[in-house]
Amino acid sequence: MYMRYDFLIVGAGLFGAAFARRALDAGKTCLALEKRSHIGGNCYTECVDGVQVHKYGAHIFHTNDKAVWGFVTKFAEFNRYTHSPLANFKGQLFSLPFNMYTFYQMWGVTSPGAALAKIDSQRCTAGEPQNLEEQAISLVGTDIYEKLIKGYTEKQWGRPCRELPAFIVNRLPLRFTFDCNYFNAAFQGVPKAGYTDLVRQMLAGADICLNTDFLADKEFWRGQADWIVYTGPVDAYFGYQLGALEYRSLRFETETMDTANYQGVAVMNFTDAETPFTRIIEHKFFDSEANSGKTVITREYPSERGPGAEPYYPVNNDKNNALYSRYAKLAKAEPSVFIKGRLGEYQYYDMDKVIGSALELADSLL
Ligand code: FAD
Repeated sequence: MYMRYDFLIVGAGLFGAAFARRALDAGKTCLALEKRSHIGGNCYTECVDGVQVHKYGAHIFHTNDKAVWGFVTKFAEFNRYTHSPLANFKGQLFSLPFNMYTFYQMWGVTSPGAALAKIDSQRCTAGEPQNLEEQAISLVGTDIYEKLIKGYTEKQWGRPCRELPAFIVNRLPLRFTFDCNYFNAAFQGVPKAGYTDLVRQMLAGADICLNTDFLADKEFWRGQADWIVYTGPVDAYFGYQLGALEYRSLRFETETMDTANYQGVAVMNFTDAETPFTRIIEHKFFDSEANSGKTVITREYPSERGPGAEPYYPVNNDKNNALYSRYAKLAKAEPSVFIKGRLGEYQYYDMDKVIGSALELADSLL
């Protein structure tokens, strides 16, 4: 432990870890505080029955950013996992993302022209879409909307699609090729030893305090470093003085099954309204080398963010965005504190974007 650090990093997720790595490599000292009992943030993985379990939801690394890929692959070997989830609508299976396999499964069409004609015949393009339902139908037609979008989206957001803003589905890409590679990114995979190990490697050389909430003694911790990189919720940092930002939350139900193969795919989306969960994750399929006789599955239930529930997805509507802008102004008034990451910037960030943003901040300061 040092008497005083160059950087206090609040949150040992990917933002904090990537920033710490750059700072440590530049000869700076770092103390990372983490209120959970482990490092890794939401990317945290844990080995259960020989399988790396993604404890806070399935995480697939994908990027077109060569610099970010070069950075992460210094700390972990990635496998060749290619994300190709399935949709299950009342027992009927469909390929995702929407592609020629999906159209064949939906209508029996075998040519791109026939698929496009089917979709065009169902698209309603009269007037500006006023809500998510109208927007989705204008983009993909009624069958795909009813079977693959409506129930899933309503469960995810907890309200009818007609009451959700159109912008949530600004784009719904349709592929007129037989291609189920969901992300289609230049670089894609999952760290063979798990994300926790990746983050551990990044943090090597930093002092780390787990089970430590920075906000429980903000003034004390502020005195421990010259600069603070805070990756917790921005509204919590300011004591919710302007009000609380809204998030959707998730509840995970994880079970070890006494079978080697439960559903044959890493991610199955349940797109009907009646099934209470949105997805089942079968973790071993993220890892081609996992050969346990058992398998671990997780059912993912979307929920309101009640007391004690983790904030997962920011609800970026006009009201929350306006509130965030006011918090961002307060943040600017604290020159030695950087409020960053998905919770600090109130933004859904993929992992590559969060790492890119951390490296950018580090490069601007060091
Ligand atoms: P976090 O990982 O949330 O880390 C912040 C850390 O700060 C947490 O560990 C938290 O405990 C800690 N903290 C907060 N407040 C305090 C405090 N007061 N004191 C101390 N510690 C504190 N991205 C992809 O690229 N691919 C995917 O497939 C993918 N899947 C996802 C699935 C789900 C369900 C979710 C929710 C996200 C997914 N993401 C995915 C996004 C990915 O999780 C984020 O990009 C990444 O976790 C953001 O890192 P972060 O460091 O900003 O935040």
